[in-house]
Amino acid sequence: MLVVMSSYATDEEIAQVVAAIERSGLVARVIEGGERAAIGILENRGPVDPAPFLLLPGVKDTIPVSKPYKLVSREFELADTVVQVGDVAIGGEGFVLIAGPCAVESETQALTIAEGVRSQGAQLFRGGAYKPRTSPYSFQGLGEEGLKILAKVREETGLYVVTEALDHELCELVEEYADVIQIGARNMQNFSLLNRAGQARKPILLKRGMAATIQEWLMAAEYIMAKGNPNVILCERGVRTFADHSRNTLDLSAVPVVKKESHLPIIVDPSHACGRRDQVIPMSRASVAAGVHGLMVEVHHEPEKALSDGQQALFPWQFAEMVSQIVPFLTEEQRVHLLKDRVS
Ligand code: PEP
Ligand code: MN
Repeated sequence: MLVVMSSYATDEEIAQVVAAIERSGLVARVIEGGERAAIGILENRGPVDPAPFLLLPGVKDTIPVSKPYKLVSREFELADTVVQVGDVAIGGEGFVLIAGPCAVESETQALTIAEGVRSQGAQLFRGGAYKPRTSPYSFQGLGEEGLKILAKVREETGLYVVTEALDHELCELVEEYADVIQIGARNMQNFSLLNRAGQARKPILLKRGMAATIQEWLMAAEYIMAKGNPNVILCERGVRTFADHSRNTLDLSAVPVVKKESHLPIIVDPSHACGRRDQVIPMSRASVAAGVHGLMVEVHHEPEKALSDGQQALFPWQFAEMVSQIVPFLTEEQRVHLLKDRVS
């Protein structure tokens, strides 16, 4: 339930409501709104009786929250969350372009690709230092050396970096180097990792599990928020279906559904959804048309030599083409965001 305060409510009245909630053995979370504050009631096991709260001074109304997720839901927070990564705003009216290789392979590889994508307007660089591979014999990533290369990329190019933490033990180290910590599809319900991510000081990019419903995905985000980290970016990356013409099936309808259900930013990763580079540009256009807050795309300057996911990586010239093709689908404000750093 949400207790909505009147716009004239004083801090003392808000504190009284919090105390009343806590006296009932429940957890209160104050949500500062632009015009008025609201107080969310958490950890209730059944419906909460609104009557005692409605009688308190400064209370305007109570709203039952019908969803199992709370902190992530639109009912709890009406305004879009904007996750700030340095000077890059992810969510709301902004548009973010994240690009880079599947895996960091060497300093030269990472810097070459980073320069290429930056010149086309990318604001964040992606690249795994720890890779969740299907086979234990495939390239597993450079580990800490890869994180150091990412730090170098940031230093040399000014791009912020996003990279995956494979488990809660690695989170600490990844947090030291990354600007955004990625939780991969295979780990969407790794609850110890989600809890650790909730204590991280960096934003979390949470990918949708390959067989997860939207409710399960939002509940995973709820774990992170419930532990105190409000900076969660959701990333749709395709789900498993019977189709075999693409690696996964990009669930584009997830975009409007998530935007309705949640205030969190949502981006699309067409690379892992498609699994083949010839599908990536059309699905990027479609994602932007569907209203995403950004895209995360795999790019490699020598995809035929890539140590992972080469078949889905765009060549840098294709990435430039992709940017040109999404521009007509952006809002005016998003266009300004995206094109200010592009070298034409
Ligand atoms: C990735 O982005 O590098 C990755 C492994 O993606 P996913 O978790 O979506 O498979
Ligand atoms: Mn990949």
